Amino acid sequence: MRYRHRIVYAKGNRSKEFVDFLKERNAVFEKSESTLQVVYLFEEEEWIDQLYKVLQSEHTSSMIDTIFTPEEFEKAEWLTIRPTFRFEYPQPETYYKTNGVTYDSSNYCDGCGCGLKQKDSFRLKKVPSWGKRHFLSINWVEDEMFVSSAAMKIISDGNITGLKFLDVIKNKTDLVLENIHQVIVQGILEPGFLPSSKSVKSTIVCKKCGHEKYITTGRELTFRREIFANLECDIIKSHETFGPGVICASQIIVSQRFYQLLVKHKLNKDVEFEPLTLV
Ligand SMILES: [Zn+2]
Repeated sequence: MRYRHRIVYAKGNRSKEFVDFLKERNAVFEKSESTLQVVYLFEEEEWIDQLYKVLQSEHTSSMIDTIFTPEEFEKAEWLTIRPTFRFEYPQPETYYKTNGVTYDSSNYCDGCGCGLKQKDSFRLKKVPSWGKRHFLSINWVEDEMFVSSAAMKIISDGNITGLKFLDVIKNKTDLVLENIHQVIVQGILEPGFLPSSKSVKSTIVCKKCGHEKYITTGRELTFRREIFANLECDIIKSHETFGPGVICASQIIVSQRFYQLLVKHKLNKDVEFEPLTLV
């Protein structure tokens, strides 16, 4: 795996030293007419500290993506999954967490956003135009996935375990929306995330409820191997939660078998997978 930094800055607004620093390290400068310059830079151990220093002196930062090799994907026993297609908002939008429609919010903490329990279907205004896509997440809801009917059939026929499907309701009606289904992940792992300075930017302890959650760097996530040892499912959520502000999301984790099924049926175009490191 390699770590790729994505740096964005306003063109013509940077010191020559900064731009030279990037050029000397073979950064790729995206060509565009935009006033913003996007730069991709693969991290190297020997100058990572220097990179952070120059980013700081330029009052900017980078987003990190971990780029895995095909072999790492093939060998991964478990991988996180995340749809890249974002659609709509949960309805009704007003106080959607606490208005009692989708969630039981009796244990909700407005300090960290944790404690919601889904009690009923999500409601949406409409069905997406799926095109060639099959997975989506709805805005504001980071750890729930929705799929097309075609994807639901492939997952069901593939005997994937650890999930069920739930209808999505058209807002302001009791009608079931066609061709969109929520994937309900049934299980939660034992605690086992191993935060390190490499993978975690900061750990937030909620002042109101004491709940702990993590803001990640974008580098690979490490979990204790033993929490996966006796699992008899292909999809599960992490015990730990992640996200800034009132975002409180688990990781959704799938087995190699589930990953292979999606690849085989070309359903992996609009989802991002990241192999987990198990120790
Ligand atoms: Zn809290």
